[in-house]
Amino acid sequence: MRDDNRRIGIMGGSFDPIHNGHLAAAEAARRNFGLDSVLFIPAGKAPHKNDGAVTRAARRFEMTALAVAGNLYFEASSIEIERPGVSYTADTLDEIKWRHGKKTKLFFIAGADAVAEMFTWKSPERVFKACSVIAAARPGVAGETLDRQIAAARERYGARIFMLETPPLAISSTDIRRRIQIERPVRYFLPEIVEQYINQRRLYRDDRYDMEAAERRVSSKLSDKRWRHTMGVIDDSVRLAEIYGINRRKAYITAVFHDCAKELSSEEKLRRCDELGIQLDNITRSQPDLAHGPLSAEIARTEFNVDDPEILNAIRFHTTGCEQMSLLDKILLTADCTEPNRNHAGIEEIRKTALINLDKATALCLRMKIAYTESKRQMVHPLSLKALKEMEGMEEMGDKI
Ligand code: ATP
Ligand code: MG
Repeated sequence: MRDDNRRIGIMGGSFDPIHNGHLAAAEAARRNFGLDSVLFIPAGKAPHKNDGAVTRAARRFEMTALAVAGNLYFEASSIEIERPGVSYTADTLDEIKWRHGKKTKLFFIAGADAVAEMFTWKSPERVFKACSVIAAARPGVAGETLDRQIAAARERYGARIFMLETPPLAISSTDIRRRIQIERPVRYFLPEIVEQYINQRRLYRDDRYDMEAAERRVSSKLSDKRWRHTMGVIDDSVRLAEIYGINRRKAYITAVFHDCAKELSSEEKLRRCDELGIQLDNITRSQPDLAHGPLSAEIARTEFNVDDPEILNAIRFHTTGCEQMSLLDKILLTADCTEPNRNHAGIEEIRKTALINLDKATALCLRMKIAYTESKRQMVHPLSLKALKEMEGMEEMGDKI
């Protein structure tokens, strides 16, 4: 059916997954600009995105279709995922124009980040000629940057760009994928039916270990206070993993288990270590709290089937440190000392240092541990001294630029 005066909104994106930020922007655009309908068009092969990480097109389309089913004016379109090759918006707009009739007015709805990039798209002159643009503010994209881009697009291409008056929502697909990867809730970030779809297929998860169940079991072994500490260590480890370029999920798993044996009594710790065949040196025998590192690692291995040696090593040595510490070892040791519930003198300095020089931060944590042990007139574990010596050699070189 052709109706020449129709006003159609178009929302393109990877929708990996679609979320309430997309839906709220589209609905506000529909209302404010009197659109007859909004087409949601998941990109087939997005020119700007790294293909490997993008969920299969059919899945993204299904999620999009589920998300828009409840709104009479919304429709999911598969035109880009059906078109072979890379998807270019210019071609998509031409195709829609062709289908709906030349007089149909197209309104491309885009977040500020996408508007700022439109210059770099293929044939921007064709894009700006074929449609008006409705730009939605997005947290993280400075207003001035957007204004500059818009002014330039108007001048260079005669672009018609309108700002969408609606509160910006700080939701992104990247954030949703990351939250799912570390078992954080995404409820109310996206439609419930899309969340169910994701959960049923376990999208965006790496499922070697059932971490949802593991978190429940570990938290039941710990007091509320200790579990809060663990959650702080999780958050900080994941943040540091991101900064230093190691797998976030691995850092997350390591942090979940790191203290699982912490609250066993001293006798129980020593008994379980003997039972599990963990060799303890004399210092650890005389300070059984030190045994919670090796014991937590062994419990993670035997009760939770964690078999990744890097994870187990980081847990094993998170209290004492060790020689030749890996990035993961340093991250856990540092996060354990500096997570938000910790509160010793000088902690702010270490927190700041951790963001720019992990070796220096690890050294500061080790020094703090050593000073604390000495203040209690206890023996310092030789591994801590060795680790500190190594770290002092490296910390000068480790400044991130
Ligand atoms: P990713 O983090 O994977 O890039 P995304 O959340 O940016 O995902 P896309 O599928 O890349 O979502 O975005 C499709 C379109 O929707 C883009 O124009 C983008 O700017 C816009 N958009 C995404 N999230 C929001 C939001 N919260 N508010 C307004 N517009 C948004
Ligand atoms: Mg995006």
